Amino acid sequence: MRFEILTIFPEFFQGFFEHGVVSRARKTGLVRVDVVDLRGFTHDRHRTVDDRPFGGGEGMVLKPEPLAEALESLGIGLVGAPGREGVSVVLLSAQGRPFTQAVARELAGLERVVLICGRYEGVDERVNTLFCDRELSIGDYVLSGGELGAAVIVDATMRLVPGVLGNEASSEFESFGAADGTIAADVEGVPRSQHGSGGLLDYPHYTRPKEFLGARVPEVLVGGDHAAVRKWRREEQLRKTLKNRPDLLERAQRDAGLSKDDLQMLDRLRAEASS
Ligand code: SAH
Repeated sequence: MRFEILTIFPEFFQGFFEHGVVSRARKTGLVRVDVVDLRGFTHDRHRTVDDRPFGGGEGMVLKPEPLAEALESLGIGLVGAPGREGVSVVLLSAQGRPFTQAVARELAGLERVVLICGRYEGVDERVNTLFCDRELSIGDYVLSGGELGAAVIVDATMRLVPGVLGNEASSEFESFGAADGTIAADVEGVPRSQHGSGGLLDYPHYTRPKEFLGARVPEVLVGGDHAAVRKWRREEQLRKTLKNRPDLLERAQRDAGLSKDDLQMLDRLRAEASS
Protein backbone atom coordinates (compact mmCIF):
# COMPACT_ATOMS: atom_id res chain seq x y z
CA MET A 1 0.00 0.00 0.00
CA ARG A 2 1.20 3.47 -0.80
CA PHE A 3 0.61 6.77 1.01
CA GLU A 4 1.48 10.13 -0.51
CA ILE A 5 1.37 13.19 1.69
CA LEU A 6 1.12 16.65 0.11
CA THR A 7 2.38 19.35 2.43
CA ILE A 8 4.18 22.67 2.58
CA PHE A 9 6.19 21.30 5.54
CA PRO A 10 7.75 18.04 4.32
CA GLU A 11 10.36 18.15 7.08
CA PHE A 12 7.53 17.76 9.60
CA PHE A 13 7.47 14.05 8.74
CA GLN A 14 11.17 13.43 9.30
CA GLY A 15 11.43 10.74 11.91
CA PHE A 16 7.69 10.37 12.17
CA PHE A 17 7.49 7.00 10.49
CA GLU A 18 10.81 5.64 11.70
CA HIS A 19 9.61 3.81 14.80
CA GLY A 20 7.93 0.54 15.64
CA VAL A 21 5.25 -0.98 13.48
CA VAL A 22 5.26 1.81 10.90
CA SER A 23 9.00 1.61 10.36
CA ARG A 24 8.92 -2.19 10.10
CA ALA A 25 6.06 -2.05 7.58
CA ARG A 26 8.09 0.33 5.44
CA LYS A 27 11.23 -1.79 5.64
CA THR A 28 9.40 -4.95 4.60
CA GLY A 29 7.98 -3.04 1.63
CA LEU A 30 4.36 -3.70 2.61
CA VAL A 31 3.81 0.01 2.92
CA ARG A 32 5.39 2.98 1.25
CA VAL A 33 5.11 6.60 2.39
CA ASP A 34 6.16 9.47 0.12
CA VAL A 35 6.09 13.08 1.20
CA VAL A 36 5.60 15.65 -1.55
CA ASP A 37 6.70 19.28 -1.08
CA LEU A 38 4.03 21.57 -2.48
CA ARG A 39 6.52 24.38 -2.94
CA GLY A 40 8.12 22.25 -5.65
CA PHE A 41 5.03 23.03 -7.72
CA THR A 42 5.19 26.82 -7.57
CA HIS A 43 6.67 28.97 -10.34
CA ASP A 44 7.46 32.29 -8.70
CA ARG A 45 10.58 33.47 -6.93
CA HIS A 46 8.93 33.33 -3.51
CA ARG A 47 7.48 29.87 -4.09
CA THR A 48 4.07 31.16 -3.08
CA VAL A 49 1.55 28.55 -1.97
CA ASP A 50 -1.08 30.80 -0.37
CA ASP A 51 -3.18 33.83 -1.19
CA ARG A 52 -5.79 36.12 0.36
CA PRO A 53 -9.36 34.88 0.68
CA PHE A 54 -11.99 36.07 -1.78
CA GLY A 55 -14.71 37.83 0.17
CA GLY A 56 -12.24 39.21 2.67
CA GLY A 57 -11.57 38.13 6.21
CA GLU A 58 -8.70 36.78 8.25
CA GLY A 59 -5.75 34.73 7.15
CA MET A 60 -4.57 33.08 3.99
CA VAL A 61 -5.77 30.17 1.89
CA LEU A 62 -3.72 27.47 0.16
CA LYS A 63 -3.87 28.09 -3.59
CA PRO A 64 -5.29 25.39 -5.83
CA GLU A 65 -2.63 25.39 -8.58
CA PRO A 66 0.34 23.89 -6.70
CA LEU A 67 -1.92 21.18 -5.28
CA ALA A 68 -3.38 20.39 -8.71
CA GLU A 69 0.11 20.20 -10.23
CA ALA A 70 1.39 18.01 -7.41
CA LEU A 71 -1.54 15.64 -7.92
CA GLU A 72 -0.93 15.62 -11.67
CA SER A 73 2.72 14.72 -11.05
CA LEU A 74 1.44 11.70 -9.11
CA GLY A 75 -0.82 10.74 -11.99
CA ILE A 76 -3.96 11.56 -10.02
CA GLY A 77 -6.83 12.98 -12.08
CA LEU A 78 -10.14 14.52 -11.13
CA VAL A 79 -12.70 12.65 -9.06
CA GLY A 80 -14.31 10.07 -11.31
CA ALA A 81 -11.51 10.13 -13.90
CA PRO A 82 -10.03 6.84 -15.09
CA GLY A 83 -7.31 5.50 -12.83
CA ARG A 84 -8.99 6.53 -9.61
CA GLU A 85 -10.06 2.97 -8.72
CA GLY A 86 -8.31 1.77 -5.59
CA VAL A 87 -7.18 5.32 -4.88
CA SER A 88 -8.52 7.75 -2.31
CA VAL A 89 -7.60 11.41 -2.23
CA VAL A 90 -8.24 12.74 1.25
CA LEU A 91 -8.45 16.34 2.36
CA LEU A 92 -7.53 16.81 6.01
CA SER A 93 -10.06 19.26 7.39
CA ALA A 94 -11.72 20.22 10.66
CA GLN A 95 -14.95 20.25 8.64
CA GLY A 96 -14.47 16.66 7.51
CA ARG A 97 -16.26 13.46 8.48
CA PRO A 98 -14.75 11.89 11.57
CA PHE A 99 -11.79 9.57 10.93
CA THR A 100 -12.62 6.36 12.80
CA GLN A 101 -11.33 2.81 12.95
CA ALA A 102 -14.03 1.90 10.41
CA VAL A 103 -12.66 4.49 7.97
CA ALA A 104 -9.12 3.21 8.64
CA ARG A 105 -10.33 -0.29 7.71
CA GLU A 106 -11.80 1.03 4.46
CA LEU A 107 -8.63 2.89 3.55
CA ALA A 108 -6.47 -0.14 4.38
CA GLY A 109 -8.29 -1.99 1.59
CA LEU A 110 -7.06 0.49 -1.03
CA GLU A 111 -3.82 0.52 -3.01
CA ARG A 112 -3.10 4.16 -2.62
CA VAL A 113 -4.11 6.98 -0.28
CA VAL A 114 -3.17 10.57 -1.03
CA LEU A 115 -3.40 12.96 1.92
CA ILE A 116 -3.66 16.71 1.42
CA CYS A 117 -2.52 18.78 4.40
CA GLY A 118 -4.10 22.20 4.73
CA ARG A 119 -2.52 25.17 6.49
CA TYR A 120 -3.58 28.71 7.40
CA GLU A 121 -7.37 29.11 7.02
CA GLY A 122 -7.54 26.01 4.87
CA VAL A 123 -7.39 24.92 1.23
CA ASP A 124 -9.24 26.46 -1.72
CA GLU A 125 -12.49 24.50 -1.72
CA ARG A 126 -12.19 23.62 -5.41
CA VAL A 127 -9.34 21.25 -4.52
CA ASN A 128 -11.84 19.44 -2.35
CA THR A 129 -14.63 19.31 -4.90
CA LEU A 130 -12.47 18.54 -7.94
CA PHE A 131 -9.89 16.11 -6.58
CA CYS A 132 -10.89 14.76 -3.16
CA ASP A 133 -13.23 11.84 -2.58
CA ARG A 134 -13.05 12.25 1.19
CA GLU A 135 -12.77 15.09 3.65
CA LEU A 136 -11.63 13.74 7.01
CA SER A 137 -11.25 15.26 10.46
CA ILE A 138 -9.26 13.55 13.20
CA GLY A 139 -11.33 15.10 15.97
CA ASP A 140 -13.46 18.00 17.10
CA TYR A 141 -10.69 20.55 17.53
CA VAL A 142 -8.81 22.85 15.20
CA LEU A 143 -5.17 22.06 14.44
CA SER A 144 -2.84 24.50 12.77
CA GLY A 145 -2.17 22.11 9.90
CA GLY A 146 -3.20 18.81 8.36
CA GLU A 147 0.20 17.18 8.94
CA LEU A 148 -0.63 15.67 12.33
CA GLY A 149 -3.90 14.40 10.89
CA ALA A 150 -2.09 12.80 7.95
CA ALA A 151 0.36 11.12 10.33
CA VAL A 152 -2.55 9.81 12.43
CA ILE A 153 -4.30 8.41 9.36
CA VAL A 154 -1.14 6.76 7.99
CA ASP A 155 -0.39 5.18 11.37
CA ALA A 156 -3.89 3.89 12.12
CA THR A 157 -4.45 2.67 8.55
CA MET A 158 -1.16 0.94 7.85
CA ARG A 159 -1.36 -1.25 10.91
CA LEU A 160 -4.52 -2.75 9.40
CA VAL A 161 -2.76 -3.70 6.15
CA PRO A 162 -2.52 -7.50 6.14
CA GLY A 163 0.92 -8.64 7.29
CA VAL A 164 1.90 -5.41 9.03
CA LEU A 165 0.99 -6.48 12.55
CA GLY A 166 2.76 -9.66 13.62
CA ASN A 167 -0.46 -11.27 14.70
CA GLU A 168 -2.97 -10.97 11.84
CA ALA A 169 -5.96 -11.19 14.11
CA SER A 170 -4.88 -8.80 16.77
CA SER A 171 -6.38 -5.58 15.41
CA GLU A 172 -9.82 -7.23 15.44
CA PHE A 173 -9.58 -7.50 19.17
CA GLU A 174 -8.45 -4.03 20.07
CA SER A 175 -10.54 -1.03 20.97
CA PHE A 176 -13.20 -0.38 18.30
CA GLY A 177 -12.45 -3.87 16.89
CA ALA A 178 -14.70 -6.01 14.72
CA ALA A 179 -18.33 -5.48 15.61
CA ASP A 180 -18.73 -9.16 16.24
CA GLY A 181 -19.42 -9.99 19.83
CA THR A 182 -19.50 -13.69 19.04
CA ILE A 183 -15.73 -13.78 18.61
CA ALA A 184 -15.49 -13.39 22.35
CA ALA A 185 -17.67 -16.37 23.06
CA ASP A 186 -16.01 -18.57 20.46
CA VAL A 187 -12.39 -18.25 21.48
CA GLU A 188 -11.02 -21.17 23.46
CA GLY A 189 -7.66 -21.69 25.09
CA VAL A 190 -5.13 -19.10 26.16
CA PRO A 191 -6.68 -15.66 25.87
CA ARG A 192 -4.71 -13.26 23.71
CA SER A 193 -6.43 -9.92 23.18
CA GLN A 194 -9.11 -12.46 22.82
CA HIS A 195 -12.45 -10.79 23.02
CA GLY A 196 -13.77 -9.63 19.68
CA SER A 197 -14.26 -6.18 21.01
CA GLY A 198 -17.61 -5.81 19.28
CA GLY A 199 -16.89 -2.14 18.79
CA LEU A 200 -16.09 -1.61 22.48
CA LEU A 201 -12.95 -0.30 24.12
CA ASP A 202 -10.13 -2.66 24.99
CA TYR A 203 -9.76 -4.11 28.50
CA PRO A 204 -6.94 -2.97 30.82
CA HIS A 205 -3.54 -4.63 30.45
CA TYR A 206 -1.04 -5.53 33.19
CA THR A 207 2.54 -6.81 33.26
CA ARG A 208 5.11 -7.52 36.00
CA PRO A 209 5.63 -6.77 38.84
CA LYS A 210 2.56 -8.30 40.47
CA GLU A 211 2.60 -5.55 43.03
CA PHE A 212 3.50 -1.95 42.21
CA LEU A 213 3.33 0.93 44.69
CA GLY A 214 0.98 -1.22 46.76
CA ALA A 215 -1.37 -1.87 43.83
CA ARG A 216 -1.80 -5.56 42.97
CA VAL A 217 -2.57 -7.05 39.59
CA PRO A 218 -6.15 -8.43 39.63
CA GLU A 219 -5.95 -11.98 41.10
CA VAL A 220 -7.90 -13.54 38.23
CA LEU A 221 -5.11 -12.69 35.74
CA VAL A 222 -2.52 -14.73 37.62
CA GLY A 223 -4.79 -17.66 38.49
CA GLY A 224 -4.40 -19.56 35.19
CA ASP A 225 -8.16 -20.00 34.65
CA HIS A 226 -8.58 -18.90 31.03
CA ALA A 227 -12.36 -18.85 31.09
CA ALA A 228 -12.33 -16.66 34.19
CA VAL A 229 -9.80 -14.35 32.53
CA ARG A 230 -12.00 -14.05 29.46
CA LYS A 231 -15.03 -13.21 31.57
CA TRP A 232 -13.11 -10.66 33.62
CA ARG A 233 -11.71 -8.97 30.51
CA ARG A 234 -15.12 -8.73 28.88
CA GLU A 235 -16.54 -7.20 32.02
CA GLU A 236 -13.71 -4.68 32.17
CA GLN A 237 -14.30 -3.77 28.51
CA LEU A 238 -17.92 -3.13 29.29
CA ARG A 239 -17.05 -1.21 32.45
CA LYS A 240 -14.57 1.06 30.71
CA THR A 241 -16.82 1.66 27.71
CA LEU A 242 -19.76 2.44 29.99
CA LYS A 243 -17.63 4.94 31.89
CA ASN A 244 -15.71 6.62 29.08
CA ARG A 245 -17.69 6.03 25.88
CA PRO A 246 -21.35 5.21 26.52
CA ASP A 247 -22.01 6.20 22.88
CA LEU A 248 -20.05 3.13 21.72
CA LEU A 249 -22.15 0.88 23.94
CA GLU A 250 -25.35 2.12 22.39
CA ARG A 251 -23.97 1.48 18.94
CA ALA A 252 -22.73 -2.00 19.88
CA GLN A 253 -26.15 -2.81 21.22
CA ARG A 254 -27.79 -1.59 18.02
CA ASP A 255 -25.38 -3.58 15.85
CA ALA A 256 -25.99 -6.71 17.93
CA GLY A 257 -22.39 -6.56 19.15
CA LEU A 258 -23.51 -7.52 22.67
CA SER A 259 -24.40 -10.99 23.86
CA LYS A 260 -26.94 -11.96 26.53
CA ASP A 261 -24.07 -12.35 29.01
CA ASP A 262 -22.82 -8.87 28.08
CA LEU A 263 -26.23 -7.36 28.74
CA GLN A 264 -26.43 -9.06 32.12
CA MET A 265 -22.97 -7.82 33.05
CA LEU A 266 -23.97 -4.34 31.93
CA ASP A 267 -27.06 -4.35 34.11
CA ARG A 268 -24.85 -5.28 37.04
CA LEU A 269 -22.27 -2.59 36.21
CA ARG A 270 -24.97 0.06 35.89
CA ALA A 271 -26.46 -0.96 39.22
CA GLU A 272 -22.98 -0.88 40.78
CA ALA A 273 -22.35 2.59 39.35
CA SER A 274 -25.58 4.02 40.69
CA SER A 275 -25.29 2.50 44.18
N1 SAH B 1 -10.55 27.51 9.07
C1 SAH B 1 -10.59 26.10 9.32
C2 SAH B 1 -9.38 25.63 10.14
C3 SAH B 1 -8.12 25.67 9.37
S1 SAH B 1 -6.82 24.92 10.25
C4 SAH B 1 -11.86 25.78 10.12
O1 SAH B 1 -12.27 26.60 10.93
O2 SAH B 1 -12.40 24.68 9.92
C5 SAH B 1 -5.64 24.60 8.99
C6 SAH B 1 -5.59 23.19 8.45
O3 SAH B 1 -5.36 22.28 9.51
C7 SAH B 1 -6.85 22.70 7.79
O4 SAH B 1 -6.91 23.11 6.44
C8 SAH B 1 -6.73 21.20 7.91
O5 SAH B 1 -5.95 20.65 6.86
C9 SAH B 1 -5.95 21.05 9.21
N2 SAH B 1 -6.84 20.69 10.32
C10 SAH B 1 -7.26 21.48 11.33
N3 SAH B 1 -8.04 20.83 12.19
C11 SAH B 1 -8.12 19.57 11.73
C12 SAH B 1 -8.79 18.40 12.19
N4 SAH B 1 -9.53 18.40 13.29
N5 SAH B 1 -8.64 17.26 11.48
C13 SAH B 1 -7.90 17.25 10.35
N6 SAH B 1 -7.24 18.31 9.86
C14 SAH B 1 -7.34 19.46 10.53
